[in-house]
Amino acid sequence: MIEARIDRVVSGIRERGLDRLLVTDLTNVRYLTGFTGSNGLCVVGPDLRVFVTDFRYTEQAEDEVGGFEKVRGKQDLLADAAVYLRGRVGFDDAHLTVRSHERLQGLITAGCELVPAGGIIEELRGIKEPCELDSIRQAQRLADSVYRHVCEQGLVGRTERQVAFELEAHARRLGASGASFAPIVASGPHAALPHASPRDEPIQRGVLVIIDFGCVVDGYCSDCTRTLATGPLDEKAASVYEAVLDAQTEALSQVRGGMGKRELDATARQVLSGYGFDSYFGHGLGHGVGLEVHEAPRLAFTSEGQLSAGNVVTVEPGVYVPGELGVRIEDLVAVTETSCEILSQFPKGITTVDS
Ligand code: ZN
Ligand code: ZN
Repeated sequence: MIEARIDRVVSGIRERGLDRLLVTDLTNVRYLTGFTGSNGLCVVGPDLRVFVTDFRYTEQAEDEVGGFEKVRGKQDLLADAAVYLRGRVGFDDAHLTVRSHERLQGLITAGCELVPAGGIIEELRGIKEPCELDSIRQAQRLADSVYRHVCEQGLVGRTERQVAFELEAHARRLGASGASFAPIVASGPHAALPHASPRDEPIQRGVLVIIDFGCVVDGYCSDCTRTLATGPLDEKAASVYEAVLDAQTEALSQVRGGMGKRELDATARQVLSGYGFDSYFGHGLGHGVGLEVHEAPRLAFTSEGQLSAGNVVTVEPGVYVPGELGVRIEDLVAVTETSCEILSQFPKGITTVDS
């Protein structure tokens, strides 16, 4: 499995006219080597696979890392890696700090050139292998159970922070290694902030509550949002909910390999504009999910290119009316040639939790 990944990286290296790729971002290092520690890097070339870590992780690397020559380096590791750099060396320009880049420049030998080459591995990570998809599916299944659990426990009178804590705690009880990001629990007017932090405020009756939450299983994330009602809604809240659900359902129906990312985003916006709510949808339609909760591909009105079979993305339109309310509905889907597999199973019709 990892062999095939490295072969694809080597093709990417050749396509860009590089001799070596220095991989320093830990998520990319994990993807290529299997290493889950907090200090490691690797150098890959057509005839070279070197993994460097420090003494704290040498034993762990013996277990986790296969197919690489393993080198025990100093804590900073760059000097140890520099020995293996030759010719045109691609580096992760989206992740390597300016300071590390300067240091590396001083370490490389004459005739060696550092070339920005971010995105090679991120692009590969965008297409999931079956085993990766299994982990994501499992993470989402756990998250669905966690949603059911917090609904059974009730929302009214609990603070947003208590609910957020319970989401994370229950995910761990069910075997997740944690939440894939700090959970969002935002009720009433607070839900108009798309990235609201949970407050110590009790959740009131008769409001909408955005709950955005994901789990991690085997290093892979899930991501899902539901907007729940804590009692009968007024006309405005009900119509916003209906509009978002309509936009989300329509966008989902258009997902397939070859669909333009920008066109998909536009589909949801068009539906919302029919309701007069499009100006309240300020973020992109979705994003890729995998080892990171936000990764390639992005779905936004500025995105270029098409979705591919194997992408795992969110579809999450929202309407945020400042000072009043917010609604977001987010599903996690695996893109296929002809449509998609919807991984989020928790119901999307308005769910009322009035306890
Ligand atoms: Zn989310
Ligand atoms: Zn998301």
